[in-house]
Amino acid sequence: MRINEYPVCEPDPGGVVVKMTVANVCGSDLHQWRGEFDVEKFGRPYPQILGHEMTGTVHQLGEGISRDTAGQPLAEGDRVIWRYFYPCGTCRACLKKVTRACPNARTYLTSSCDVAPHFYGAFGDYYYVRPGAAIFKVPDELSDTMVAGVNCALSQVVGGLQLAGLKMGDNVVIQGAGGLGVYATAIARELGAGQVIVIDSIPSRLELARGFGADAVVDIEEFPDSDMRVRRVQELTDGWGADIVAELVGHPRVCNEGLRMLGRTGRYLEIGNINPGLTYELDPSYLVFGNRSILGMVYYEAEHLAQALDLMRRTRDKYPWHKVVSDTFPLEHINEAFAAADQGKVTRAAIVP
Ligand SMILES: [Zn+2]
Ligand SMILES: [Zn+2]
Repeated sequence: MRINEYPVCEPDPGGVVVKMTVANVCGSDLHQWRGEFDVEKFGRPYPQILGHEMTGTVHQLGEGISRDTAGQPLAEGDRVIWRYFYPCGTCRACLKKVTRACPNARTYLTSSCDVAPHFYGAFGDYYYVRPGAAIFKVPDELSDTMVAGVNCALSQVVGGLQLAGLKMGDNVVIQGAGGLGVYATAIARELGAGQVIVIDSIPSRLELARGFGADAVVDIEEFPDSDMRVRRVQELTDGWGADIVAELVGHPRVCNEGLRMLGRTGRYLEIGNINPGLTYELDPSYLVFGNRSILGMVYYEAEHLAQALDLMRRTRDKYPWHKVVSDTFPLEHINEAFAAADQGKVTRAAIVP
């Protein structure tokens, strides 16, 4: 990555120019930085500004926008979060109100930053929020670093665990205690889960997961073998297995293990694996005979963003939301931030322009 300079344009009617305050390095930014997205196949226009997990303040409001998506008055200087993708509103998915599945949705990846208004991604001084976006004012009680993860990681698991039909008392296994994993731990807790069990290999992440409400953690160093970890989950769930396993690692090597942790009627929630072409082997009869299912989910609905923000406000003193962003870097050191995140040295790196 390198620093380019562009003029800040006037917003279109209904659009908002935001002055960035915090932009997190999300796992999907890392996948792209490593070159794991097939540029040829997706025809992505470069150069691009990466980054989509973020917060900022309103720099300039376009004509005709004076309220946020929840109806709160919106003014210049207000702190905001917003949905970083723009569903079309008229395709089959959008008509079914499953806008996260819209094939026409524009994102920060669909435009080159060489094209005005330039600021489509979070790793910059400004961000252009297109007209019609879901945008919410941030409550005063929440800090910028607390809310930076709301519009991607947190909303994703708020939507995901509800999609997986989490019911009171369900036992939940979280694979991976990065940003998504620790957030999912708190959401499972708040949705009324029974046992919440978190698996990772880094002790500091597991410690953070405990702070977010994990009843038990499984340290991969301590249980180095896949069979051992599956047995451990069985023990922790009275021999039944998990009702929901959430894959938040982002590698197919963990999928079979996660599936084996499912009890009968269990649901495997697939969120982390976003690299086309990486596969694993599966015996489908295992799904049939246990009435188990696999659910995939990308993006989320605008209501999940509102739910996530409200939940964080209500539980601000209950969970260590402020600890998820563990390290901040100035924009000039963005390559260093990515290297640190890539090596798993940090829970969530953030860029502070
Ligand atoms: Zn993300
Ligand atoms: Zn659509």
